[in-house]
Amino acid sequence: MVTAVLDIWIPVLICLFGFAIGSFLNVCIYRIPRPDMSIHSPRRSFCPACNETIRPYDNIPVISYLLLRGKCRHCRASISILYPFVELATAGLCLGMYYRFGLTLELLLALVFVAVLVPIFVIDAQHYIIPNVLIVTGLILGVVVVCGIAYRDSDVWYLLVRLIGALAGGLALWLVAVIGSAILRRKAMGGGDIKLMALIGLFLGAWPELAMVIGFSALSGAIVGTILIVSGVKSRESPIPYGPFLAGAAVVVLLWGDSLWRLYLQSVGWH
Ligand SMILES: [Zn+2]
Repeated sequence: MVTAVLDIWIPVLICLFGFAIGSFLNVCIYRIPRPDMSIHSPRRSFCPACNETIRPYDNIPVISYLLLRGKCRHCRASISILYPFVELATAGLCLGMYYRFGLTLELLLALVFVAVLVPIFVIDAQHYIIPNVLIVTGLILGVVVVCGIAYRDSDVWYLLVRLIGALAGGLALWLVAVIGSAILRRKAMGGGDIKLMALIGLFLGAWPELAMVIGFSALSGAIVGTILIVSGVKSRESPIPYGPFLAGAAVVVLLWGDSLWRLYLQSVGWH
């Protein structure tokens, strides 16, 4: 009976936690790229159109957006659909990680990863930058939780693999950037992408996870890039940020990497 109740309530609590984190990530996404703002100031959320402080009951994730029909209560300016979308995506990712890892330290590591990848995804897509504050926060929290897991399992190798992953990730993308720039004769990749790949290496480990992230991000980037150019949204010369593809690929590998790698080994006849 107790387990049955927990079976329902833990996922519900994880979801609510995800919505709350998503709401905080919206604040990060809006404020971090703006030099005149910080996470702490102004203290309360405000409408970007009329500057009116948003009341707590108008700041409930997703629900307030639906009740207000996507408009500010004060000035009726449209609220970006991105806000409820980020909240829904964060809650969905938290729930997915719970079903993947259960109530473990590995879940905590995955949640930290989600909390930095979601704002990196949106900020890079909007502003073409990957803020250092997100990379550094992710690296510090990641190392702390990785050390915790290594300590729990008395497994120094686990910690070592993650550190090698971070070095290998940064190095691999730096090489891609150098070679890409030489071939394309223009900047092929930003420094932010290299730092992001080091972060991904810390959270996922080195092999085969990093290879899968590079493969999936290159493939999805090529497909989406082609669609954007063919549909006329982007010109051939306009830059397309690579961070969202790295972040998306990292989430896919974290959730399904094991099964995908096994499937790949079977398909090439390596049992
Ligand atoms: Zn307003």
